[in-house]
Amino acid sequence: MNEIEYKLYIDDVIRRVETARLTVSEHHIVKIVAVSKYSTAEDIEKLYKIGQRAFGENKVQDLQAKAQELEDLPLEWHFIGNLQKNKINKLLDINPSLFQALDSLELAHELQKKLLARDMTLDCLLHVNAAKEESKHGVMPEDALEIYTTIQNECPNIKLKGIMSIGAHSDDKEVVRKSFEVTHEIYQQLPNATICSMGMSGDFELAIECGSNMVRLGSIVFNK
Ligand SMILES: *Cc1c(COP(=O)(O)O)cnc(C)c1O
Repeated sequence: MNEIEYKLYIDDVIRRVETARLTVSEHHIVKIVAVSKYSTAEDIEKLYKIGQRAFGENKVQDLQAKAQELEDLPLEWHFIGNLQKNKINKLLDINPSLFQALDSLELAHELQKKLLARDMTLDCLLHVNAAKEESKHGVMPEDALEIYTTIQNECPNIKLKGIMSIGAHSDDKEVVRKSFEVTHEIYQQLPNATICSMGMSGDFELAIECGSNMVRLGSIVFNK
């Protein structure tokens, strides 16, 4: 695809997001985070040129490499992957806009210590394992509210903004829908939460219909 073809292609993805968000409400705004984990800095630059600003990575070293390579562009970086404790400092050096995958109280306490030592704060989402899949990270749905409020009380340098989940891994649309509904129900109970991040390339329309206001699109926007 040349630049014009790519722009038309992305316009079509945006139109699909538009159609889905309007099923919720005219006032329901959805943000697209372009997940660049399978893409190069050059690919990111192409998407930036047609208007995309927020990008997500799931490995700290990849985030670091791409953020460095593209440091001249005003990009907004999201970290969406599992964070190992020994990578916290590396992540904080990059100072991402949003860490979307905070998935335990233990990690929150570790993160709090490091943030305090640097006198910085970090916007985060609590990662919920909405479909209770063994292969996935995230807190159990029934524990989410308690863990969220505990982090708010015990970790003042962590600024919780809401919740993130990955849709159920299933071909049954109703099973996937249920996992999004579970996430959205928790989201509505969280004090001061503004971000409900759910929906990827294969299920973003359904996620938006269930109330998502942030979708993380990888393969579909990089056309891979
Ligand atoms: C890879 C990834 C995505 C994007 O996946 P696609 O199916 O390529 O859109 C979204 N969220 C997380 C947490 C991911 O790891």
